[in-house]
Amino acid sequence: MIIIPPFEIHSIVTGKMRLDGGAMFGVVPKVMWEKSSDVDHLNRIAMTTRTLLAIDSSAKRVILVDTGCGSKWTPEKAQRFGLEVDHQAIPNALIKLGLSTKDITDVVVTHLHFDHNGGLTSWYDQPDEKTTPCFPSATHWVHRKHFEHANSPHHKDKASYIPADFNDLATADNVRFLEGDHPTSSIEGLTWWVSHGHTPYQIHPIFGNGKQRLIFCGDIIPTVAHLRLPWVMAYDMLPMTTIAEKEWINHKGIKEGWLLAFPHDHQHGGVIIDGTVTRPVVAKSLDL
Ligand SMILES: [Zn+2]
Repeated sequence: MIIIPPFEIHSIVTGKMRLDGGAMFGVVPKVMWEKSSDVDHLNRIAMTTRTLLAIDSSAKRVILVDTGCGSKWTPEKAQRFGLEVDHQAIPNALIKLGLSTKDITDVVVTHLHFDHNGGLTSWYDQPDEKTTPCFPSATHWVHRKHFEHANSPHHKDKASYIPADFNDLATADNVRFLEGDHPTSSIEGLTWWVSHGHTPYQIHPIFGNGKQRLIFCGDIIPTVAHLRLPWVMAYDMLPMTTIAEKEWINHKGIKEGWLLAFPHDHQHGGVIIDGTVTRPVVAKSLDL
C-alpha cells in the first residue's frame, strides 16, 4: 500500500497469464527479451493481471481500476492464455480493509481488452446466455470512443474483445462516458490521461492532488521491460504513438517524480524510475 493523498493505493494481483513473447515485445528479438522473462515451452512469458484499488476514506470513495479476466472462461480457452484467475483476489483484498465489493463506488475501465475487464460481468445463470454486472452499485468510467471501437473493432484487434464482457454496459445507467482527448474529472484527486497507441482512447487515471502523483500505465507500459522505448507490443494499433506516449510517461516519472503502476508485471506493482527518458531504469520497486 502507498499513500498518494487523498488516496491509499493497493495493487491487487487477480491472476496469472501467459502471452506469446514475440507478440509482447514486437520487433525486439528473443535473444534480448528472454533474458528478462520467464519463458515456457510454447514461447509464452509469465505475466500477471493487476488491478488498482484507490481508497479516499474522507470522501467515502473506493475506486477499482480494471477488473481482471473474470470468470466466463472455459478450461480450453483459459489454457490457451495460461490463465489462472484468482476469483477471490478482489473480494479478499477488500475484506482485509473492512470493505466488500458493494463498497466499490467507481470502476475505471482503462480499455475493454478481455485481460483487463473480463471481470466487469459474470454469467447470470447459464454460460453463453445473460450476464450480470460484478459491481452493480459502482459508476463505470470508460471513454465513449473506446467503447464504440470495442463494439466495432478492426480485424487486427478483434480477438482482444469479448462482447459478453461489456454488452450490458451499453444500456446500464451507471456508466459515465468520458469525451474527447482531455476529459475533465469530477473525482477529487484524480485526473485523466488518454492514450491511443495501444488501442483507441485508453484512459489512464492519475492519482494525487499534490506534487506526488501515481499514473496507471495500462497497456502503454504493461511491464517494467516495456519501459524501454522500442520494446512495444505487436498488439499495439499505433506503435510509434505508443513510443511517444511512453516518452511522456517516462518524462513525468524522471523529471517530476511520478510513480508508475503496471497492469501485467509479475514482480512489480509499481516503481519509481530514474535514468533518461530514452533509457529509464528502475530506481525503486513500490510496495503496492
Ligand atoms: Zn490491452
